[in-house]
Amino acid sequence: MTDAHDDFDGIIIGAGHNSLVLQAYLGRAGMKILCIDRAGTAGGGLATVEDPRHPGFLHNTHSFYHRALNQMPWYRDLELARHGAIYIEPEFNVALLLEGGESLEWWTDFDKTAASFERFSRRDAAALRNWRDRFLPIVQNILGPESQSPPLPPEQRRLLLQKTAHGRLLLETSALSPLQFVMREFEHPTIQAGLLFFNGLREVDLRCEGFGHHIPALLASTGKAQMCRGGSASLARALVSAVHESGGCLRLRCEPRRILIDNGRAVGVETQDGQVFKARHFVASGLNPQQTFIDLMDEAHVPQAWRDKAQAFSYNLIAPLFALNLNLNAPPRYQAARGNPALDKALMVIMGLEHVQQYPEIVQHHEEGRIPPTVMWGSCPTVFDPSQAPAGKHTAFMWEKLPYALDGDARNWDHEKETHGRSMLELWMRHAPNLADDTIDWFTRSALDTERSLPNMRGGDLLVGAFTNGQVGYHRPFAGAGHYRGHVQGLYLCGSASHPGGNVTGFPGYNCAQVVSADLGLPAPWAPPSIEERLAQLS
Ligand SMILES: Cc1cc2nc3c(=O)[nH]c(=O)nc-3n(C[C@H](O)[C@H](O)[C@H](O)COP(=O)(O)OP(=O)(O)OC[C@H]3O[C@@H](n4cnc5c(N)ncnc54)[C@H](O)[C@@H]3O)c2cc1C
Repeated sequence: MTDAHDDFDGIIIGAGHNSLVLQAYLGRAGMKILCIDRAGTAGGGLATVEDPRHPGFLHNTHSFYHRALNQMPWYRDLELARHGAIYIEPEFNVALLLEGGESLEWWTDFDKTAASFERFSRRDAAALRNWRDRFLPIVQNILGPESQSPPLPPEQRRLLLQKTAHGRLLLETSALSPLQFVMREFEHPTIQAGLLFFNGLREVDLRCEGFGHHIPALLASTGKAQMCRGGSASLARALVSAVHESGGCLRLRCEPRRILIDNGRAVGVETQDGQVFKARHFVASGLNPQQTFIDLMDEAHVPQAWRDKAQAFSYNLIAPLFALNLNLNAPPRYQAARGNPALDKALMVIMGLEHVQQYPEIVQHHEEGRIPPTVMWGSCPTVFDPSQAPAGKHTAFMWEKLPYALDGDARNWDHEKETHGRSMLELWMRHAPNLADDTIDWFTRSALDTERSLPNMRGGDLLVGAFTNGQVGYHRPFAGAGHYRGHVQGLYLCGSASHPGGNVTGFPGYNCAQVVSADLGLPAPWAPPSIEERLAQLS
């Protein structure tokens, strides 16, 4: 245990997975790093909690689907399998269940996905193959490496991309909005709806030009949804174990009051209970820009232009999630599985989505703070990992995108959420009638509950900041702060408000570790070549 007034090489605020990735890399380079968090458990969105009324029933209250997690460079470098994070990837990834009993399916095996598309439209199955083939090298050689590196200024990036055919295709496709891309390339309304659903999981506004490449990139990506054995918190525990092994310290239930600045340098953190932790080299924030630059820094230490930009940082309207969590005697048994038994083994099941025309309606409801007709998705984790419930029992959940400010005020969720949870359960029972008898108990969580537990997710935005053209890449979180450095020496940003944004990718922390290592002259043999070099080498 470290003395409260020990000096550290660096201090990190917020113990989300990005912060822990940064801390473990720097610890392995010999730095003595402290990470502090207001919560009682480290890991932020890697939370698995036991239902207090039903011992042994575990629920993943934030993230569950970890895309290609065991292919992440930091998973390998930090030896997280050895630290206990084991991943399961059910080969039937996603099923979109339709009222008529049909389903649109995504499999790890691409040919099975294409066969499912073909049952709806031959032309769309051909488009799927065509875009998968065209984007495979783009994902492998451009988009993948870009997400794992500090970003380039947009003009420099554009000039490099324009030099190759793949780069030009990426720029042309990006110029569209996801909606334009899907409507231009695919014809069947169910396939159009399914593709836009996946775009929606990345929270990008489907009308926003500049993001048309998202869908072909998803089609080409070999990385599929995975889940962590024992629940998402197993990844947090593995990261904490890697941090401890690297000599790092964690202080939980420790709330920062301010970042200390001396002589134009970030030199430490003072906590709400008056402790002062000093940092010889740096302070990194895994929080959002309003927290970092406005709440935690004296006005005198932040130029007005930075305060204004931090204040203007915006959040995703359509990101907030509402969750219905069930304790069960048996897993959901879908009616549609009578004709297609594999459906009971799909990792993710989507219900309520029938037609692409539902999207404008959903967006409008969000804009007006009203509950749209339900489109929901979720899983029964215990089908794949029995350890998340008592022997023979199960847990399951459904998520729905619902407006944060219900009827103009997020607090309305506190009295609305039971009613809405019941209506989701009714829809679920229509598809899986056994839930009427097999449900032991259930509870809900609103986007306001999310924000209460993770205040960096302002407005319940689980990606910690909108993906809009002003807030991506080199300009995320805002112009001038897109290289993980703050406005004073020794101040860094390492959370999802930085490139490439939210979700459990670890890349904001991984990229920040590259920048801090370079600035401090630390050995970083794990770091990839710079993105400039990699794009310049493309043929
Ligand atoms: C309901 C829900 C479902 C999700 N599902 C998925 C999913 O399936 N797949 C996926 O990839 N992602 C999912 N996400 C998103 C994912 O959880 C986040 O994008 C991710 O956790 C962000 O990681 P982070 O390290 O940047 O920060 P976080 O995980 O948000 O961690 C931030 C940390 O900072 C701490 N903190 C906040 N404010 C302060 C403060 N003032 N002082 C000190 N500490 C503070 C918090 O306690 C927390 O520990 C989901 C999120 C939610 C809410």
